[in-house]
Amino acid sequence: MAWQSPKTGVLSNMNISITKISTYLECPRKYWYLYEMGLQTPKSEGFYFGSAVHEGLENYYLGKDPMEGVRNALFGKKKNIGEEPKEGIDLDKLHKEAKRIFQIYPQQAPYFKPALIEHFFKVPLIHPETKEKLPATFVGKIDLITTHDDIVDHKTASGSDTGFFKEKNDFQANGYSYAFLQMFGRLPKRFIFNFLIKGNTRRGPRIEPKILRPQLGDICTFFDTCKYALDAILRGETRDYPSSIHYRVCPAKDICPYCQGR
Ligand code: SF4
Repeated sequence: MAWQSPKTGVLSNMNISITKISTYLECPRKYWYLYEMGLQTPKSEGFYFGSAVHEGLENYYLGKDPMEGVRNALFGKKKNIGEEPKEGIDLDKLHKEAKRIFQIYPQQAPYFKPALIEHFFKVPLIHPETKEKLPATFVGKIDLITTHDDIVDHKTASGSDTGFFKEKNDFQANGYSYAFLQMFGRLPKRFIFNFLIKGNTRRGPRIEPKILRPQLGDICTFFDTCKYALDAILRGETRDYPSSIHYRVCPAKDICPYCQGR
């Protein structure tokens, strides 16, 4: 049943995702631009490249040609501006970089025996211990679930993991482990970030997996964070709640009065 916010009158059984909640935590006003106003902007080079490699990996684990997936993602028809690359991105260069990755991938990547590939989930948000239920559905897509109960998330990067995104990555690992628990009634054995590091003129690409083992306590923390963000969103604390830390990469930075052009 839908829930109605006493302050805003908002009815909710909204879908929330890792990206939505992370965006809210980063900057509530950014959340407002992206998810309440529907602002769409073309993808940065890093995101565009990451999506292409993801499509290649999906093909790879399905036993198909990974570069066909990469080409489709880089050069295929786009449905909306949010799928387009930013102006000036050299697609041929990205194609070459992806090719270098897939040349070394079969030898260098850990072996994952896939059970589910690009698995969409849609699960209720229920506290694993207290059974409190939130007025939202948690949705997302897991890159790979192995036959050994491991969750694998592919990430492209230009260098080794420095820990800069630790909080965001932990939140994602805990969230997907929560979804796993909801779907299968048990925790995953491991959560593996499969980092694919781009090569450059001096060195080739490389694969650097990072293993986490989320526990029940981490999953309860994930639930509590969702509850905090969801309560604030339903109270209408978005548009007029800019973060004091402005983000260089914020897609709204050119139109937002709080840090226009900075
Ligand atoms: S420009 Fe700054 S304040 Fe405005 S939405 Fe982006 S991060 Fe938030």
